[in-house]
Amino acid sequence: MLASYAPLICYPNICRIAKVRSTEQSVYHLNRRIINMTKGRIHSLESFGTVDGPGTRYVVFVQGCPMRCMYCHNPDTWAMTGGEEMDPEYIFEQYQHNEAFYKNGGGITVTGGEPLMQVDFLIDLFTICKEHGVHTCIDSSGIAYRPENKEFIAKLDKLMELTDLVMLDIKHIDPEMHKKITGQPNDGILAFAEYLSEKGVDTWIRHVIVPNLTDDDKYLYDLGYFIGGLKTLKALDALPYHTMGKPKYEKLGIEYPLGDTPPMEKKDLVAKKQVILDGIKARRADDGKKAE
Ligand code: SF4
Repeated sequence: MLASYAPLICYPNICRIAKVRSTEQSVYHLNRRIINMTKGRIHSLESFGTVDGPGTRYVVFVQGCPMRCMYCHNPDTWAMTGGEEMDPEYIFEQYQHNEAFYKNGGGITVTGGEPLMQVDFLIDLFTICKEHGVHTCIDSSGIAYRPENKEFIAKLDKLMELTDLVMLDIKHIDPEMHKKITGQPNDGILAFAEYLSEKGVDTWIRHVIVPNLTDDDKYLYDLGYFIGGLKTLKALDALPYHTMGKPKYEKLGIEYPLGDTPPMEKKDLVAKKQVILDGIKARRADDGKKAE
């Protein structure tokens, strides 16, 4: 359910927020509204994320993802029905417990699973964050983007007004390879990147580089050429494939799709990232010529 707002009339006997959080009434009544929140289906919470956006971050892992990336290290977040339902205000309270740690330019990141499968929850959580000036970030594969669904787009527009940064994980630039690696098409994902560009939402592109799977120079260059056209591109994270998720597959009784594929060597990663950067540079040069 989308958040609904009403003018503040706070009755301590019937207002759950006032009753339960009497010392933090101002938190939820800051803009003189009572907000009916949508619960999130949450896999887990992490207090000190250091690789999930700028600064130190409170990280919310949502439950549920329609993708099946061969190298996913969180297969336990896939099921749409698992996890635990949590109120946005409860999650924000957890953030506040360690607020001092996030003063280094950090904030809250929602990752997963796929956050954009829970847009209503994100709107409510980020509404609270913005009322408190907390930096908000979504780490998404973009798979939930449905431009033909007007209701979804209206909610997404609202969410983007509350979002400081989107980290968009593009798994592969080639449609066929993308389908092979994730089980899903990439046209909506690339359209989502362009939507972010048009909306003026700061974007970091993330790309996991897996030996013999996503390390082909042609595709890396093409990826760079595509993202070089995004007006709001702020950073590129080339992430090395690692095998730390493997034990989770064993625990869940799922065959590990990448078998004995070795982790990505750091020196190779630097060279592969450079290929993407070359693509970005070429695209920007071409766009610059067209604009002349
Ligand atoms: S999108 Fe993320 S959570 Fe979903 S399968 Fe891929 S890596 Fe895993």
